[in-house]
Amino acid sequence: MPHPVDPSAADAWLAWRDAARDPHLDQQLRALYDDLAAEIERRAPTCWISGRCCKFDTYGHRLYITGLEVAWLIDRLDEPSRARLDDAPLPGLDGCPFQVDGLCSVHALRPLGCRIYFCDPAAQAWQNPVYETFLDRLRKLHEQYELDYSYLEWRLALDEARKCL
Ligand code: SF4
Repeated sequence: MPHPVDPSAADAWLAWRDAARDPHLDQQLRALYDDLAAEIERRAPTCWISGRCCKFDTYGHRLYITGLEVAWLIDRLDEPSRARLDDAPLPGLDGCPFQVDGLCSVHALRPLGCRIYFCDPAAQAWQNPVYETFLDRLRKLHEQYELDYSYLEWRLALDEARKCL
C-alpha cells in the first residue's frame, strides 16, 4: 500500500514547483547547469555510455538531489516521460525510471548529480570539489527565493513528488 505524503512535505513540493515556474529562477537554474557544463567540458572526462551509473543498486551508487531540481524537472516532462514516472515501481526500482535503452531520456532536464558524475577514473580528482561548488550555488538559490532546502535520494524523491505534483 502506498505511503501517504506528509502534509508539510506536500506543501514543500508545491512551493518548489511554483518556484520552478518563476522565469527568473528558471533562468538561474539553467545558467547554473550551463556553467557546470562548461567546467566539465574544460576537463573533458570520458563517458563510455555504459548506463551503469543509472542502475543504482546494481552499481552500488546513490544519487542525491535537491527537491527544487526534482520539481523543476517534473514540471517540464513531456507526456511519455511523465507516464514513465507514474508507472515506475518506485521507490524500489534498481535504476532510474528515465533510463530508456541504456540512455537518459530526460538529458536536458537531469539534475546536478547526474551531470557531474563520470565513472572515468581521471574524473575522481576534481568531481567532488566541482560538485560542492555547484551544490553551494544551488543552496544559495534556495536562500534567494526563501525556499526550504532538502537533499534527497533520487528514487525516494521522485516517488514522493509524483504523488504531489
Ligand atoms: S535522470 Fe538520466 S542521467 Fe540521471 S539517473 Fe536518470 S537516466 Fe540517469
